[in-house]
Amino acid sequence: MTVTTRFAPSPTGSLHVGNIRTALHNWMWARKYGGRFLLRIDDTDLERSKEAYVAGIRSDLEWLGLDIDGEARQSARFALYEAEFDKLKAAGRVYACYETPEELDIRRKVLLSRGLPPVYERKPQGAAPPEGVAPHWRFRLDHRTAIEWTDLVRGPQHFEPTTMSDPVVRRADGSWLYLLPSVIDDIAMGISHVVRGEDHVSNTAAQIQMFGALGASPPEFAHEALLVGTEGKLSKRLGSLGMETLRDRGIEPVALLALLARLGTSDPVEPVTDAAPLVAAIDFAHFGRAPARFDEAELALLNQKVVHQLEHEAVADRLPVAIDAARWRAIRPNLMTVAEAADWVAVFDGPFAPPPAAPEDRAVLDAAAAAAPGIEWSADPWHALTGAVKHATGAKGRTLFLPLRRALTGRDHGPDMSELLPLIAKDQAVARLAA
Ligand code: GLU
Repeated sequence: MTVTTRFAPSPTGSLHVGNIRTALHNWMWARKYGGRFLLRIDDTDLERSKEAYVAGIRSDLEWLGLDIDGEARQSARFALYEAEFDKLKAAGRVYACYETPEELDIRRKVLLSRGLPPVYERKPQGAAPPEGVAPHWRFRLDHRTAIEWTDLVRGPQHFEPTTMSDPVVRRADGSWLYLLPSVIDDIAMGISHVVRGEDHVSNTAAQIQMFGALGASPPEFAHEALLVGTEGKLSKRLGSLGMETLRDRGIEPVALLALLARLGTSDPVEPVTDAAPLVAAIDFAHFGRAPARFDEAELALLNQKVVHQLEHEAVADRLPVAIDAARWRAIRPNLMTVAEAADWVAVFDGPFAPPPAAPEDRAVLDAAAAAAPGIEWSADPWHALTGAVKHATGAKGRTLFLPLRRALTGRDHGPDMSELLPLIAKDQAVARLAA
């Protein structure tokens, strides 16, 4: 069996971190087993689906490096749905219904008030349809056997179809609800594993019978616990946290993958610079049942750790040309994002005016300004400079290093000065010390 997974977003909005997490797990599973990862655009809702969102979904997946092996659109497959629907109709597995939403609502309330489950009540077969009303269509659940599957995340699952309403699969205007087209596509596309959020568990129970009714065996299912924010729910904020915002904040795609791959699992979140170790380690048995908590601060911190490991060649196209490999290596441990590297160009090459020196630092700076011109810059200028200043003034430790760092970089903290100073042009350094 070829492992085949699919990511099936509805293009009615931009992807948020929760959708991306589902896409990622599908992609990882397919890649781990050398299988296929498909994108299925669930655009049966022609009114709410927008082409701009389809384009956004594609470019988000591309930015994240989640490469796809094929793409399908539900709106191009209506003929197939029609044909399969006809078969189900002929077999009596879908049937016409005529109730209005109001009638159904009243019936639900009556059942609830009697302490009964609000399950849809089938009309006796063969009853004459009301005149002039277009039907909507329900799938007839087989009440004779329990629905069971072993979920790769949740373990053994059991549903009694008698406690479930026959689901509506098609509206009176002929448009499709999600359930049936999804099953038809999963069969046609040879999907081996359906990985999605646990909000779909009860859909799965009904869909398992649809696979059977269409003569196919169901795929494996992995229903993952939902992603929530630090406050314990999928907040509006989290639900609208899109890739564009994260990209603008300097989040590296691989940092987001590293977090989303492991969040809510028993595997540790680790700063990796490549998805390969994530792919190799994915195991749905390690996924927890509790909601996975997404913390933007945790992502920023993880991102920082990832940035500190990125090689120059991996980021060169996003760096100012002045930041060559040696300069990148020197400043990398001090960056939160790759974009911050641009702030260091002036430190290396100017223009740069050192901050006014404190009176107590004068002696150190004067001695440095006197010593610097005579120092051989290609050797170890920082060692030579501090040695000379120490000799001249007796200053040591912080009293020696901090005024020099400030005058040379304008900052109190930063890269190791012995690495940084050789990368600053000598005339620049001399001028700053003398200023
Ligand atoms: N379009 C559905 C959704 O976004 C797909 C669910 C599924 O993966 O089957 O919820």
